[in-house]
Amino acid sequence: MSESEKSTVSGDSSQSTPQSVIEIDNVRKEYPGVVANDDISLDIYEGEFFTLLGPSGSGKSTLLQIITGTNTPTSGDVYISGQRVNDVKPYNRSTSLIFQEYALFPHMTARENVEFGLMIQGVDKTERQRRSDAMFELMDLTGKEDRKISALSGGERQRVAMARSLIIEPDVLLLDEVLSALDVNLAKEMQVELKRLQEQIEKTFVFVTHSQEEAFTMSDRIAIMNKGKVVQVGAPLEVYQNPDSEFVAEFLGVSNIFSGTVTSVHGETVTIDTGDYTFTVTDTAQSQTPGDEAGFIVANERLNIGDEGANTLEGTIRDTIFKGPSTEYTVRLDESGEEVTVHESTGEVLHEEGTAVTVSFEPTAAKLLKR
Ligand code: ADP
Ligand code: MG
Repeated sequence: MSESEKSTVSGDSSQSTPQSVIEIDNVRKEYPGVVANDDISLDIYEGEFFTLLGPSGSGKSTLLQIITGTNTPTSGDVYISGQRVNDVKPYNRSTSLIFQEYALFPHMTARENVEFGLMIQGVDKTERQRRSDAMFELMDLTGKEDRKISALSGGERQRVAMARSLIIEPDVLLLDEVLSALDVNLAKEMQVELKRLQEQIEKTFVFVTHSQEEAFTMSDRIAIMNKGKVVQVGAPLEVYQNPDSEFVAEFLGVSNIFSGTVTSVHGETVTIDTGDYTFTVTDTAQSQTPGDEAGFIVANERLNIGDEGANTLEGTIRDTIFKGPSTEYTVRLDESGEEVTVHESTGEVLHEEGTAVTVSFEPTAAKLLKR
């Protein structure tokens, strides 16, 4: 992909120069035998919905704790609004962290929970009430102020936890897997509500999840984490369309990934041997040399049933899903045994399960992954 194409893809988020609210500079956190954060550098912009997405154990919670100050980095610096905060106590940082477990006080009422932070700050009763009323209204909890936490549903508790964090007016709200404990329908509803809330109050949200769907539907930008490292940062579509490693492609559930060894390079034409197949792919960046390990993906809609592409693969239809104007085929490849997904405009004939077919693609349909 050329530089000009790249800037179009990310154009929306970079139109006005974004202001960083959090800067993470070479943050490292080591525990005996494990590097939880491996020299992470990240800028999080003011007012954005930023998501840390990665599998369990990839270091997401550790990074949130370091931002909010409940954990200290082994090395590296954290800046909030330009101020280095390494030595600033959590309650003196303009961040607020919400956990999956809510950490609400079960024996207190919703209002007592929400006003807790203001109590600590010594805000008087009238002012506390005025501000908590506004929070109950914002979170659509009016009328439930005097309920005990145990008398609230999971979704209501989550909103009380949110109100309790928001009432102290943090610049940045950090949310750690807050939807993971909710049942699927409620989690979906909360996705929409969280996003709406973030747009309404115009605060920076740093959201942590292992769910690709949550990340993709809510975020302005995503940082994908693996083994303590941030491996890719970008807008959801940008990352999805241009995963720059096999890990990212696989984690995002991108189908039709191939990998092998570069056997020859002629200008932009590269030959890759996977062991089972020899493919010809276009490498416009001319980044490959013979002997390199190389991976590429082919988008579903750029794979065809039929032999009209330069690269052909024999296979058998395993599944046919008619979707109206298009049909999705899962094809099991004869040589490798791998499955590929093909999207075709629905034609006059539907290939049925068990049919032997040829799948093909053009060299330009392959998108080489950066390593
Ligand atoms: P995530 O939130 O992505 O699941 P964490 O940040 O919780 O990941 O953990 C990253 C790694 O650091 C894991 O291997 C975890 O076991 C380890 N880890 C986290 N906290 C501690 C701790 N207090 N002591 C030792 N190891 C820890
Ligand atoms: Mg975690």
